[in-house]
Amino acid sequence: MTSMTPSNPDARHVIVVGGGAAGMMAAITTAELGADVVLLEKNDRLGKKLRITGKGRCNVTNDCDLNEFLSNVPTNPRFLYTALSKFSTADTQSFFEALGVPLKTERGKRVFPQSDKAGDIVAALDRKCRSLGVKILHQKVRELLVEGQVAYGVRTSEGDLQADAIIVCTGGKSYPTTGSDGDGYRFAESVGHTVTKISPSLVPLVADGRLCPSMQGLSLKNVALTIVDKTTQKVVYRDFGEMMFTHFGLTGPLILSASAHLADIDQKKYEAHIDLKPALDEKMLNARILSDFEKYRNRDFLNALDDLLPQKMIAPFVHLCEIDGRKKVHSITREERERMIRVLKDLSVPLIGFRPINEAIVTRGGVHVKEIDPKTMQSKLISGLYFAGEVLDVDAYTGGFNLQIAFSTAYLAGTSAACGI
Ligand SMILES: Cc1cc2nc3c(=O)[nH]c(=O)nc-3n(C[C@H](O)[C@H](O)[C@H](O)COP(=O)(O)OP(=O)(O)OC[C@H]3O[C@@H](n4cnc5c(N)ncnc54)[C@H](O)[C@@H]3O)c2cc1C
Repeated sequence: MTSMTPSNPDARHVIVVGGGAAGMMAAITTAELGADVVLLEKNDRLGKKLRITGKGRCNVTNDCDLNEFLSNVPTNPRFLYTALSKFSTADTQSFFEALGVPLKTERGKRVFPQSDKAGDIVAALDRKCRSLGVKILHQKVRELLVEGQVAYGVRTSEGDLQADAIIVCTGGKSYPTTGSDGDGYRFAESVGHTVTKISPSLVPLVADGRLCPSMQGLSLKNVALTIVDKTTQKVVYRDFGEMMFTHFGLTGPLILSASAHLADIDQKKYEAHIDLKPALDEKMLNARILSDFEKYRNRDFLNALDDLLPQKMIAPFVHLCEIDGRKKVHSITREERERMIRVLKDLSVPLIGFRPINEAIVTRGGVHVKEIDPKTMQSKLISGLYFAGEVLDVDAYTGGFNLQIAFSTAYLAGTSAACGI
């Protein structure tokens, strides 16, 4: 058993497991309060997932107030109340600005580094850890060491390490090549914690039928998406934005956001309805079609749609309208035009599942929050054991909320672990 060599013999010894967003924040907070901190990360560098967030730009938080924040957390929002009160979205922004990373706020209050470089966020956290004397060890933690309901250390690939407190920040199970492959769930279960059902969230959707593959690679900006529960006819999601057709179904920002609202997708009860021309009502659309038909009056229907639709969509659209593609546009009937309008305003795609968890932005499910004290992030079962970040059973929509959850829970866990509360 190797004890950590303390620089200050009276300092509390804290081990942080996982050097992602939560782990680095927990290490910084704990070290700032005078603890001796060891940060254990199995990858050869810190923040591998953080580097790919926000398409490499890192949507680091959302500049909204607490209530708006909680309304963007579908799973266990109240559990986050204290964490977000102690370390708010404003605190995250001041924190990074003070570390020399200027930020900017974009549409939807999404906050990014001005440089548009996620690497700047990682570098700032990494630098701060080192400047505070956090000992960074690139070792894989294999198990937690617990005796008599008290956590006293961890077993790593290189040996055992002892501490007064352990903070588990191992992340979820999505994008496992970044290092977050579910170890934290195993650690939690091994000491008696419950881990709720793990499933993907913010994930592409699998669709039924040939329509999506026939338009694979086609990306649409400015469409309106409505998802309906076919069993109740209730709208479960409605928004406007960007999406893409793929060989398996649908992806893109709008679809990833929608996926967080489709918990029962396995029951195949959801249908996506895409309004391809949300800026035009039916009357305007009819006028638009008539003007296109006038322009191309001697063309076949199939060759008269270039102004209305992207090339990849024309053949599937003609098929869906049940109009002969070789029919001259001047002979298209009013009824046929009405069919065109129906398809343009309501392209229907039956949804049958999520893509696998390794393609998800976040993991839904995790360490049961009823077993964690929301005021400290300490386990209610094992003293000296804390959890922070995506390993917990909390997840949020897109917009910078998931990273903020990692930072806030880590700050609270770090403060508590440093003070032994
Ligand atoms: C492609 C993508 C884009 C995203 N974009 C955004 C965004 O723009 N904004 C946003 O808010 N959220 C975004 N997210 C979600 C966000 O990245 C996560 O919610 C967040 O990183 C969770 O932080 P964490 O510290 O809990 O876990 P992670 O960042 O996953 O870190 C966990 C760390 O623990 C380490 N680890 C695991 N097991 C062990 C072990 N046994 N021993 C040692 N180390 C271990 C891992 O190697 C990893 O480095 C995105 C996610 C993905 C996949």
